[in-house]
Amino acid sequence: MNPANKQQSDEPVDSFADNGLDQLYNEADYWHVNVGESKIHARRMPGRFRRLKWMTACLYLIYFFGPYLRWGGRQAILIDIPNRKTYIFGLTFWPQDYWMLSLVLLILAIGLFFTTTIVGRAFCGYFCWQTVWVDIFTWIEEKLEGSPSARIALDAAPWSMRKTRIKALKHLIFLFLAALTGVTFTSYFIDVRELWTYYTALEGHAYIWSVPLIFMIGCYCGVALLREQLCFWLCPYARIQGVMIDPQTIMPTYDFKRGEQRARIGKGDDKSGDCIDCNLCVAVCPTGVDIRSGQQEGCITCGLCIDACDAVMEKVNRPTRLISYRSLFERHGEASNLWYKRGRVYVYSLIMLASLGGIVYGTTQMGGLSLTVIHERQPLFTRLSDGSIQNRYLLKMVNKEKKELLLTVAISGVDGAMLEKSERLIIPAGAVKSHTLFVKAPEDSLVAGNTPLRFTVTGQGFSADYKSVFVAPLE
Ligand code: SF4
Ligand code: SF4
Repeated sequence: MNPANKQQSDEPVDSFADNGLDQLYNEADYWHVNVGESKIHARRMPGRFRRLKWMTACLYLIYFFGPYLRWGGRQAILIDIPNRKTYIFGLTFWPQDYWMLSLVLLILAIGLFFTTTIVGRAFCGYFCWQTVWVDIFTWIEEKLEGSPSARIALDAAPWSMRKTRIKALKHLIFLFLAALTGVTFTSYFIDVRELWTYYTALEGHAYIWSVPLIFMIGCYCGVALLREQLCFWLCPYARIQGVMIDPQTIMPTYDFKRGEQRARIGKGDDKSGDCIDCNLCVAVCPTGVDIRSGQQEGCITCGLCIDACDAVMEKVNRPTRLISYRSLFERHGEASNLWYKRGRVYVYSLIMLASLGGIVYGTTQMGGLSLTVIHERQPLFTRLSDGSIQNRYLLKMVNKEKKELLLTVAISGVDGAMLEKSERLIIPAGAVKSHTLFVKAPEDSLVAGNTPLRFTVTGQGFSADYKSVFVAPLE
């Protein structure tokens, strides 16, 4: 059954508590996903998870201030596409170093699986760009329009000067923040000082205007308009996270046994549970979930319902943690293994460690000079008039230093092989140079087919080598 089509039930759900894990599938019948039929105006309450959410949101300050950091006379983090270089503080990555980027992406992807396995959608709840921005935008909305009930009343009210003024100001601020987000994104690809010079002079290439504009429209539509609906219907991670969660995953969970039968204070009998049916846990939820219907699809694991319920429990002098981070095993009183005692966790950890090792190795091997040699295949070899065999090679050298390099080319590995002429090459600072050269060897010193041949370029304290082959006739 699609929970999106199911209306939230008022029926008590205490029967879940006694029926074992298999019965949990029935919980989906009680889930409710707000498919946009009503706008969510979540209430804000102080608490430790609220504080944690603000703290993780502050990490995005790095995104906004990152482009303004300088290092060695240039922008500290810059993806310079025209010159095919990426600068990260003191490191310069050339295209041949980008394999490390794939390892970084692998770590991020596996890190997401790892986190989801252990604490569900904690990434969505605390770190995801979309949820953090929605949190900031709704905070601004609250400052301008007031409490959730005032916002609902304002939405329902007929258009007036006051409503127009408030709504216009709110959307202008949203658009400004969306534009700032887009400009900041662009400034990772073009020096931010240059960028602002273009903007203030209203000039520059079309892409410095079009990229932030596209980003601004995307940000405004996703954050200001779609909000949690983007998570429900557009985010692929939200759709696949269910397969990464298991009964040992720790997520915000309502304690059925303790909470049910829920009853409002003064309206219950002696057998009533601790839940006083105040609905505050639903009122604070940014995705409109009623966690009392079980761990469910719409929950982004933000823990704000825990803050709300704890505050209520303290107020009515009942023990806190009626809603808390716990696994389904714990909820059903089953022994819960330690979080790391799962095969998947070990596999994810190993992949991340191996990738990290690759990145560390790669950065230590990032010399100031690199060499690639391509054996020319048209023709594979040439028989010269003196009977010797000649091969042609294309050398590609990258000088990653800030000074010009004077390099000497040498070969080794094939008896009697020599360069057609001695090669001394000048490579300007920060440049890529291609150079064709010929190697010949007496035929009687060669074995048929391929013989390993090593190229070495050295000069001014720098050295790089490359293993190639020398091709001789088969007969
Ligand atoms: S149910 Fe609780 S943890 Fe889940 S999204 Fe709502 S407030 Fe956050
Ligand atoms: S906040 Fe706690 S007491 Fe109030 S409805 Fe939710 S679970 Fe029940």
